[in-house]
Amino acid sequence: MAADPTLLNSQALGRLAEALELPAFERGWVWLAGAGPGDPGLITALGLHAIASADVILYDALVNEKLLGLARGECIYAGKRKGQASAKQSDISRGLVSMARKGARVLRLKGGDPFVFGRGGEEALALARARIPFRIVPGVTAGIGGLAYAGIPVTHRDTNHAVTFITGHGAGGGLPALDWAAVAKGSPTLVLYMALAHIEEIAAKLIEAGRAADEPAAIVSDATFAKQHVRVTTLGELPRAARESGAPAIFVIGENVRLREGLDWIGAMSGRLLDPDPLKRERFSDAS
Ligand code: SAH
Repeated sequence: MAADPTLLNSQALGRLAEALELPAFERGWVWLAGAGPGDPGLITALGLHAIASADVILYDALVNEKLLGLARGECIYAGKRKGQASAKQSDISRGLVSMARKGARVLRLKGGDPFVFGRGGEEALALARARIPFRIVPGVTAGIGGLAYAGIPVTHRDTNHAVTFITGHGAGGGLPALDWAAVAKGSPTLVLYMALAHIEEIAAKLIEAGRAADEPAAIVSDATFAKQHVRVTTLGELPRAARESGAPAIFVIGENVRLREGLDWIGAMSGRLLDPDPLKRERFSDAS
């Protein structure tokens, strides 16, 4: 049944905002919101309310355009991927300030969570400098929600008590200046964003620092979209698997990847048989 988007926008979303007592989107404000990793269902109620209330929406490449169908205001693409004329960060920040000063309700909509490798902090600081009132609306980040759609829990008590989120792309375009040996030793699970370009170097550094080449790893491309593709491999084979993977992609290295054998709930929908003991622990202690 096709929903009437106008009806959904004006009535259902208005009722939702009222029922949940969501804050009003005031004129002259900027809201920086996360749209989630891809599946439009993963946006928050506050994010939906913002889309339906905004006068203008500046959105990024990774935002699912279906969400923009619920917009009342103008939608302006401010991404960095399509074509060569990518919007400059300073221009985006200036645009947010000038539109807010004109009294518009300005929504800056980003993929995933705005404060996770998304420059949301930089844009919010520009607003703070210009004395523009703003609100941050968190979102489901790809490194957590994307893995969940691949059936890989980002933490699990039998595999990892910690997780480290890493960007594979430094501010200058090269490898970020991290103590890779410390990263390798410090966390049983590593989740990498923007790592397609430098994965060969990263995997080599991790192995050099003592991580096993046969440690489980996975690449989740187009996570949470219908076209999501998951490659399960090992740390040693990660560079090769990366060459066959499309962007955007999330990388995960760690024993928690093994849990996918039991938790690939999307695979199960098309007949995959799940292994209820994916770690081969045969633990009965909790079974009582
Ligand atoms: N703020 C975003 C991350 C922006 S950086 C968030 O919280 O998710 C962009 C990187 O995020 C991509 O290079 C990729 O590593 C990851 N990413 C974002 N969406 C993704 C998706 N649907 N599937 C896989 N990776 C994704």
